[in-house]
Amino acid sequence: MKTAALIVAAGQGTRAGGDIPKQFAPLAGRPMLAHSVAAMTAHPAIDAVLVVIGEGQETALRAALGDVPFAIGGASRRESVANGLAALGDADRVLIHDAARPFLPAAVIDALCAALDDHAGALPALPVADTLARGSDAMLGEIVPRDGLVRVQTPQAFRFATIVEAHKAWPVDREATDDAQMIRALGHAVAIVPGDPMLEKITHPADFAAAEARHAATLRVRTAQGFDVHRFAEGGELWLGGIRIPHSKGLSGHSDADVALHAITDALLGTISAGDIGMHFPPSDPQWRGAASARFLEHAAGLVAAQGGIIDFIDLTIVCEAPKIGPHREAIRASIATILGLPAGRISVKATTTERLGFTGRGEGMAAQAIATIRIAETAE
Ligand code: MG
Repeated sequence: MKTAALIVAAGQGTRAGGDIPKQFAPLAGRPMLAHSVAAMTAHPAIDAVLVVIGEGQETALRAALGDVPFAIGGASRRESVANGLAALGDADRVLIHDAARPFLPAAVIDALCAALDDHAGALPALPVADTLARGSDAMLGEIVPRDGLVRVQTPQAFRFATIVEAHKAWPVDREATDDAQMIRALGHAVAIVPGDPMLEKITHPADFAAAEARHAATLRVRTAQGFDVHRFAEGGELWLGGIRIPHSKGLSGHSDADVALHAITDALLGTISAGDIGMHFPPSDPQWRGAASARFLEHAAGLVAAQGGIIDFIDLTIVCEAPKIGPHREAIRASIATILGLPAGRISVKATTTERLGFTGRGEGMAAQAIATIRIAETAE
């Protein structure tokens, strides 16, 4: 049985002050649309994901998500969905979702798929908690009984043949606010499964901040450490934290041997259990000869961001007898902050000696240790 997901992202409205449509605007570290695409793609019950975008939004889509299957929407939401269903071609079931509801819990997908075993359609809904009333010209009118009222969310799930038939049967001159009413018009029952506050729709500019806060509250803290050592060599350049430090000796290594950035890179890779720097940039690979280590760190930070992770803090300790790190501390902090795109306040740089003991004490090499603290979704693998 094939279950497809259709994500409708065809709106032309922009986030206030922005010039890109809001579904491509940044939200919690990635374009808004990327969140629901990732949730659908990661769910084991979903076999195919297709995005419906507005005309002229191909470039924005590619910038946001790379190469993903897409269809071009129409003048109304209904037409956009119809175009998406036609582009999907065939499936047994389809979940139709609005990109304006970016945070999609896996449990909602589970419940919808289960409901389709017994029903032609299903949707998530939440009870109405507030008192409802009519009102006009800032004056209160009648109270509307809220018994039996629910707040309808997406995704809405359907047997594929049924929703295709419903779209064909719907009068072209009438608008539909959602897909569920279209199969109800054909006489099919639509089941309700528990909705989720995370699915709240982003409509107004202020909704972005509220959605970010809801999302951040679901993240868990993770910490990981990284450690690295490089040997001093006569005549080389000394790079620390992405800047060149004047010194009589440099560190030797395959890349620029930036021991500080290597330790931070390993710490970040550790937070997402993504192995170590040697796995991602093998010393045996000639393309990394003399490479600027900022590239390694950017790569690790990119992997964290791709999983929706937020880097909260980096604490670095550099271990050497010389050079003195103090005079360069702020420059190193600023450099690391720039590479990671973080305020310098979230970077700490410390230095210590080993009291002339061991290899750092004898001036044979330098060591660095870093601890990275991030927040990331519990379910991210
Ligand atoms: Mg190294």
